[in-house]
Amino acid sequence: MKIVLATRNKNKMCEFEALLAEHIEGIELLSLDDVGIVGETPETGTTFEENTMIKARAAAAESGYLSIADDSGLVVPALGGEPGVRSARYAGCEGSPAERDRANNALLLKNMAGIKDRYAEFVCCIACAYPKGGGEGDFVVTGRVSGEILCEPRGSGGFGYDPLFWYDELGKTFAELSPEEKNKVSHRAVAVMALAEKLKEIKRIRELLC
Ligand code: IMP
Repeated sequence: MKIVLATRNKNKMCEFEALLAEHIEGIELLSLDDVGIVGETPETGTTFEENTMIKARAAAAESGYLSIADDSGLVVPALGGEPGVRSARYAGCEGSPAERDRANNALLLKNMAGIKDRYAEFVCCIACAYPKGGGEGDFVVTGRVSGEILCEPRGSGGFGYDPLFWYDELGKTFAELSPEEKNKVSHRAVAVMALAEKLKEIKRIRELLC
């Protein structure tokens, strides 16, 4: 079964292929480049769910394939849900990815100064859209992982807010986990597992109809 993943990011393609393959066989992922889609779909939504659905529907309409898109970020309830959908560009859009991560983490720590409730969640939404269904059957799955924001970074692995995200179950920050450890518990892993269950059902129905 061919599915478009609405991204041009090769690392994201590999990560999704590996995570999906753990739960479901026979899925061939195509990138936006593979199906000749050029240009960016603006993320105009105010929630992860809206943004993922906008991207998945645009890819499905343009490619003619069942399409999926993801959006993830850090949600801190004590900051009213920030950085939320602005996680990637919380402190602005300038600099290399590593510089942006550093600036985002610094701003998060500044905004959390003096706040006692340091609970946070990483959230990952994945939307799946049919090419000609007019929205019918489209769905979103969500993965979450709970943690706390430390007062200073720890660890050198991962990316984004990982060095500040304390994961109590393993007694480490996400930046101190190996990629294998993180892939077992992350918001993305939980969302992909839920997606795989839905795709199994779609695949089964398609096989029955053919
Ligand atoms: P994306 O939607 O996966 O591109 O993620 C958007 C932003 O959320 C990233 O640029 C990071 O700042 C943050 N983020 C998402 N997932 C993670 C994660 O697993 N660790 C750390 N930061 C993350």
